[in-house]
Amino acid sequence: MQSVDLSLITTDTLHSFSNENRKVDTLRLDKMHPVINGNKWFKLQYYLQEAIETNKQRIVTFGGYYSNHIVATAAACQMNGLQSIGMIRGEAPKVYSHTLQDAMEFGMQFVFMDRTSYAKKIIPTELLLDENYFIPEGGYGFLGAKGSSTLPINNGAYDAIFCAVGSGTMMAGLINKQGHHTDIHGISVMKNNHDLEEEVKTLLLDPTTPFTLHHDYHHGGYAKYDKELIDFMNEFYCQENIPTDFVYSAKLFFAVKKMIERDQLGNGKILIIHCGGLQGNLSLPKGLLNF
Ligand SMILES: *Cc1c(COP(=O)(O)O)cnc(C)c1O
Repeated sequence: MQSVDLSLITTDTLHSFSNENRKVDTLRLDKMHPVINGNKWFKLQYYLQEAIETNKQRIVTFGGYYSNHIVATAAACQMNGLQSIGMIRGEAPKVYSHTLQDAMEFGMQFVFMDRTSYAKKIIPTELLLDENYFIPEGGYGFLGAKGSSTLPINNGAYDAIFCAVGSGTMMAGLINKQGHHTDIHGISVMKNNHDLEEEVKTLLLDPTTPFTLHHDYHHGGYAKYDKELIDFMNEFYCQENIPTDFVYSAKLFFAVKKMIERDQLGNGKILIIHCGGLQGNLSLPKGLLNF
């Protein structure tokens, strides 16, 4: 299987988050590939492997107009000689988002679904073929969690790990690998998504492993933002020279910064996983960001 270049990943220390008792690092998964970045490659790898091993020709998966999972799947499929179909939530837009345009350039075909059919994941019968391999929305599932367990983080190297949470797949993979000796914290980017607890637990090898979800850093809800978040993104870029995306990583770094300010973060070694997703910023008004 063709892989992205994992040697581009670095671990950087965040000086503005650290002091003499606390070292805060960030895992730069944003650097691996322009669109197959962050946890997306890690979540996809075992699905793609299974599809290739079982001689499937085409990947079918689900997502919205701005889904990082959709564009990453399109690119990973092209890289591996697979066709791809994106089942997209909502009517066909007059103008495609940057995400959909990019996915189309990577050869993905779209099937637009009204919101009710999408919610029920009703698959048109003409797509129910042996040659098609289905990957759940966001790569959610055991293979996605298993892939996330292969993120390049040494076991036991950190006292706490923080990540942004959408479907909870990556977080489950982190808990499965590190959860017994490291506190795993997830920042939910959605408002009131209290099913998340259960969705993460479903993917745990040992459902008694503790983990913490934070629900108060959504800035209005999924893909919503406020001035405080945009100001933070600009300030963080000035201080650390690290770009963030407004849907996931900015909410994550913002949350950790707030916890530091409120003295809620312990000492020791802390890792923040930067999952990239920077292509999402293309849907922001021009001039809002200083990078
Ligand atoms: C998809 C994504 C996440 C969330 O991953 P889940 O496994 O769905 O929880 C976090 N950050 C970025 C940038 C992403 O693209």
